[in-house]
Amino acid sequence: MGIFSDLSKFGLDELQNVEVYEEKKTEKAQASKTPVKVLEEKDFLYEKEYTCVVCDQKFTNLSVRNNKLRLVKQDQDLRPRYEVIDPLKYDVVSCPHCGYSAISKCYNALAGVQRKMLKEKIGANFQNSTYMEDTITYDEAVLRHKLALACSIVKQGKNSERAYTCLKLGWMLESLMEDIPDNNWKHVKYSKEVEECMQNAYDGFKLAFSSEEFPICGMNEHTMTLLIAQLGRRLGDDENAKRMAGMLITNRNVPDRIKELARDLKSQIDEESK
Ligand SMILES: [Zn+2]
Repeated sequence: MGIFSDLSKFGLDELQNVEVYEEKKTEKAQASKTPVKVLEEKDFLYEKEYTCVVCDQKFTNLSVRNNKLRLVKQDQDLRPRYEVIDPLKYDVVSCPHCGYSAISKCYNALAGVQRKMLKEKIGANFQNSTYMEDTITYDEAVLRHKLALACSIVKQGKNSERAYTCLKLGWMLESLMEDIPDNNWKHVKYSKEVEECMQNAYDGFKLAFSSEEFPICGMNEHTMTLLIAQLGRRLGDDENAKRMAGMLITNRNVPDRIKELARDLKSQIDEESK
């Protein structure tokens, strides 16, 4: 019996079961018929076309539709975390013909001498490689980042490019380790590689900071100061980490968000050294 049962008194028996919001009910019924699609990693990807800046051949790489990404948080070392997908896995552009690879931000035109060095030292020995799946695993991402790092060294790329590639390789290795038990030999091996990457990233960013013009790898001076400070803390160089965090805290031009992270870092170091 609904609220309209009394209407029978008026001879309106037919209205007894009428819904107050008929339309809403219909919408709800339709909505429940069409299941909401749960987004998967491959839904964020597409094949982007490139022409290799070393061998001039055309190729495609899986690339991420950035407009679909939703940032969840940023780790202390500024690594961004997104819903559903880790787009960082796809951040190396890699030619399957000659092997030339670079972090997408650093995939630019090259000088003739750089092309020559890459052809001789990478292309001459490189075996064609193509990924067969519609997504990239952390294993593959690690290899692509290692190839990009080797190319950045062979072409004598900027310190910032080498440092940035090391940082991202370190992040990929950390993700790869997440599912491996601590006592497994692979865990121990990757753990050493991560430390090596982070140390190289730290050294390279410090060199770049004093010798290159900003923005460096898309970072302004404040963001990079914070990143160097965070890496310093991680690697036990507390003195430098505190000095750089202090520079941010006392600079009136630094945005509040960065200042806050610098204050957190400083108090964390003070806390740890107690
Ligand atoms: Zn190529």
